[in-house]
Amino acid sequence: MARFDGKVAFVTGGGRGIGKATVARFAAEGAKVTAADLAFDADVQGLQVETDVTSRAAVEAAVAQTVEEHGGLDILVTCAGIIRDNLVHKLTDDDWDAVIATHLRGTFLAAQAAQRHMVERGGGKMVLISSTSALGNRGQLNYAAAKAGIQGMTKTLAIELGRFNVNVNCVAPGFVSSAMTQQTAERIGIPFEDFQRLAAEQTPLGRIGEPEDIASVIAFLCSGDASYVSGQVIYVRGGP
Ligand code: NAD
Repeated sequence: MARFDGKVAFVTGGGRGIGKATVARFAAEGAKVTAADLAFDADVQGLQVETDVTSRAAVEAAVAQTVEEHGGLDILVTCAGIIRDNLVHKLTDDDWDAVIATHLRGTFLAAQAAQRHMVERGGGKMVLISSTSALGNRGQLNYAAAKAGIQGMTKTLAIELGRFNVNVNCVAPGFVSSAMTQQTAERIGIPFEDFQRLAAEQTPLGRIGEPEDIASVIAFLCSGDASYVSGQVIYVRGGP
């Protein structure tokens, strides 16, 4: 029997990158999966639902469609994210609002919509995606605030939903090869390969992360093996 047989997972940002790898991991281990995103790579598995996570109506409709088509909802993973990096004196209101809306409002809306079904079903698992940037990162005032906020949301959701047998944890990746880090390399003006090599050199394990390195930890936290883990932030960064 596969680890997620009979389980239903809903992954925001599941159209590419870490979210897509998470969708693939759940699908490979028996789950029925929905990828909710604005756009989808050609090889995304499961049910694809075009969803803007900043829209309450869109998130509620995507969760409702998942419950309707897959027969319930057991697992939520919130990977949808954007960056709008700039130093504080150049950061615009729009940069601030877009990042806060996508990460914080998006995570709030998905968690709120998902918990209704999890509570009804007698339990569930949530994994929210933060970042090492929550600890502070030059040029990411908006993103650092959002990712630190997600850690606070994780702990609060774990406290509120624990009595309903819902585990809520947070994964905070370091440098992962994806469109997001490619975008950063473009902004800084160095080739992506050089950017990745520099990041690998600064990582104790001597390599950068791949989306699958994050997906495997998310899957562990959503599995029965992590049933007594809740409210935790797990840094997945190839080092301390
Ligand atoms: P990515 O850009 O490949 O994936 C992000 C996905 O989120 C995209 O598919 C995008 O379309 C989707 N998205 C953005 N806004 C959305 C919206 N309003 N509604 C629905 N979907 C939306 O980047 P990634 O590296 O796979 O990032 C996944 C998550 O991991 C993000 O939350 C990111 O902040 C976080 N993270 C990434 C890294 C890294 O190094 N790549 C490190 C730490 C944390």
